[in-house]
Amino acid sequence: MSRLILTVGLPRSGKTTWARAQGHPIVNPDSIRLALHGQRFYGPAEPMVWASAKLMVSALFGAGHETVILDATNVSAKRRDDWKSYAPELQIFETSPATCIERAVAIGDAEIVPVIDRMANEWDLARPSAWSPQDAASPGGVGGLRWPGDGTYVIAAEDMRPFTMHEFVKPELKEMAPEKTDDPAWLTKIRAGHAALLEAPDRAVTADDLVWAATARCKCGAGYVYPNFTRSPQGHWFCSASILGTAPAGSEHDCAKPFAFWSIKSDQQPSANGATTRPDK
Ligand SMILES: [Zn+2]
Repeated sequence: MSRLILTVGLPRSGKTTWARAQGHPIVNPDSIRLALHGQRFYGPAEPMVWASAKLMVSALFGAGHETVILDATNVSAKRRDDWKSYAPELQIFETSPATCIERAVAIGDAEIVPVIDRMANEWDLARPSAWSPQDAASPGGVGGLRWPGDGTYVIAAEDMRPFTMHEFVKPELKEMAPEKTDDPAWLTKIRAGHAALLEAPDRAVTADDLVWAATARCKCGAGYVYPNFTRSPQGHWFCSASILGTAPAGSEHDCAKPFAFWSIKSDQQPSANGATTRPDK
């Protein structure tokens, strides 16, 4: 099975260092540019650069490689969509623009600074850091979820416990303001959710607080979920076992899949035909 990994990150965010450490073949548009015309960027050659990148990816899979890394910035959906047919995995580098700029300046590469700025503005994925595992109460992450800090969504669970309502929905609150929707049914739901949250912020999240994926599951086998009173386009699908605290210690998860990129169907969709990943249904 072909597994294409797209790096997502600003210039100087650590993508290439990470890619080189993985032991998989790497396709890197910057290297193609240098091989093709010897310059960092030459606009008229860009279609050729990307056609070459596609050819290389296809040829590497064709030659029998199972995993290929496309080491590029990929910060916009438009760019990532080019690779949709491979159903790529994203390896996201959360390094802040300020840090990337600092690194560029430190190696005397002032030319890249405006590019970092521009790409930071084009960044269209919800950032998991906005969900701030860093400021969670438990050491290393929320409810035992750990972000190793290199931007990966693959997380090891230790010290698992259910999330509280407060922990789970806090960062999404800003994005699900009632005035942002004109759908009365959702408005009711969002208001009820806010009320539930304010009433008992430390209550453990239950299966009923969640919207369940019809068929999509975390690598641990548990279905994906999100809080049942949000509809934020900036939201994420999470691993239900991680949220409910039922994941075994040390298990690995790939969750926090941004809605913006992952079209995961919920069990509420008519086209799900009653399929659900909710275990008690
Ligand atoms: Zn999981």
